[in-house]
Amino acid sequence: ARIREVEFAKSSPRARDCPRDDRPEFAVIGRSNVGKSSLINALVRKKDVALTSKKPGKTQLINHFLINKSWYIVDLPGYGFANAPESARMDWSSFTKGYFLNRNTLVGVLLLVDASVPPQQIDLDCANWLGRNNIGLTFVFTKCDKVKSAKGRRPDENIKHFQDLISKYYKDPPPWIMTSSVTGLGRDELLLHMSQLRNY
Ligand code: GDP
Repeated sequence: ARIREVEFAKSSPRARDCPRDDRPEFAVIGRSNVGKSSLINALVRKKDVALTSKKPGKTQLINHFLINKSWYIVDLPGYGFANAPESARMDWSSFTKGYFLNRNTLVGVLLLVDASVPPQQIDLDCANWLGRNNIGLTFVFTKCDKVKSAKGRRPDENIKHFQDLISKYYKDPPPWIMTSSVTGLGRDELLLHMSQLRNY
C-alpha cells in the first residue's frame, strides 16, 4: 500500500478530457476548505502537489495524479463554500456529475467530511446522490486532531451525529476513516483501504 512515486498527470476541463487508460482511480471530493489539498499532500507526502485547483478564479479542473505508475488519485473541484448560507442543494457543475456517471475506471469516491463542524446538509446530499447512482463511497473525516469546534462539539461527537443521519439513508452504511493531515492519523489506514478496493 506504499506510495513510492507520484507524478502529476493531467488537468482536464471536462470529463471527456480525462486520461484514457485502464488504470483504476479514486476521486477525492468535499466542501471547499474541508482539507482536501492538505489530505492529498499528506497522502503522497509532497507539499503542494494538490495546489493547482486552489487558485482563486481559476477554471475548475479535474486533476489526475498518477501513483506508482499504476493508479490515480483524482482531485475534483470542491463544492459549497465555507461561509455561504447552508444550501440544501448540490451545486456541482454538470461536468462533475458527468465525471461520476461516465468514468468506468472509478474504483471509489473518498468523500471528505470536516469532523470539526456539525453535519452539513450539503455533505449528506452529496453522499445520497452518490448512493442513488451506485457509486462506491468511503467517508474520510478530516481535521480529527481538532480538540473543539466553534460550536463546542468534539470531532468524535460530530462524526457520531453524521453517521446517525447517514444510517437513515443506507441499510449498509459506507466505510469511514478518521484522518488528520496535521498528525498523520488515518494515512496508513486510508492507503490500505484503497489498495484493498483496487484488488477487490
Ligand atoms: P481545501 O480547500 O479542501 O483544499 O482545504 P485545505 O487543505 O486548503 O485546508 C483548509 C484549511 O484547513 C487550512 O487552513 C488547513 O490548514 C486546515 N486543515 C486542513 N487539514 C487539517 C487537519 O487535518 N487538521 C487541522 N487542524 N487543520 C487542517
